[in-house]
Amino acid sequence: MPQRIEPIRNTQPRPPASFSELGVSSAIQNALKTMSINSPTEIQVACIPPLLAGIDCIGNAKTGSGKTLAFALPIIQKLSVDPYGIFALVLTPTRELAFQISEQFVVLGNSMNIRTAVIVGGMDMMAQALELGNRPHIVIATPGRMVDHLKSGSGEWNLSRVKFLVLDEADRLLSSSFVPELSYLFNVLPKERQTCLFTATLTSSIENVANAPPRPGKQKPFIHRM
Ligand code: ADP
Ligand code: MG
Repeated sequence: MPQRIEPIRNTQPRPPASFSELGVSSAIQNALKTMSINSPTEIQVACIPPLLAGIDCIGNAKTGSGKTLAFALPIIQKLSVDPYGIFALVLTPTRELAFQISEQFVVLGNSMNIRTAVIVGGMDMMAQALELGNRPHIVIATPGRMVDHLKSGSGEWNLSRVKFLVLDEADRLLSSSFVPELSYLFNVLPKERQTCLFTATLTSSIENVANAPPRPGKQKPFIHRM
């Protein structure tokens, strides 16, 4: 009786991708080393390549899985190509989250002269207006206060050069309480831009965004589900 031959399986686990394999620049890899960040997390492996390639992205991964760097690295890398005006607007539901996100941008962007501004409620409007006038590259904001500044026309800045919009904790941002502010911002922001949503929970409003037909000439967003 012929012996049954088992198919040979490659039992070697695939090594986790490196930041370099994802297309992250060596300048950013060096900055990551100073933060003791050596290899990417799953959400970073999934979302960094499409974001670097200019594709919109919906990233779903649990809290603490490294979603901030999944958008911060592509933003910083693309920024070096177009360093004029506010390049990226990161929206997040709370002041605390805005400061946490800003911390990661500041540490990463420090050696690259990247200016960030945090625009959140409950803080001095005038000081924030000055910060916006100081030509930041990245603005991290809560929607209400961002709209307040746009409506008050507080200075020599605008959102007309924004190339990258992030909705962080998108499930909360897309809930009804933020709808008026978000529609205001969507009307002001350039239509030609990249958009990404990050969330720990896939709600029906996020599924709606994911399933909406893309604008003519645009490809559907890449979706990573956990
Ligand atoms: P999330 O937004 O998914 O809740 P964060 O982006 O705030 O999570 O990241 C949580 C923590 O993990 C942060 O302190 C961050 O510096 C750290 N972190 C992010 N990416 C990595 C990585 N690739 N390796 C190690 N630590 C990381
Ligand atoms: Mg987060």
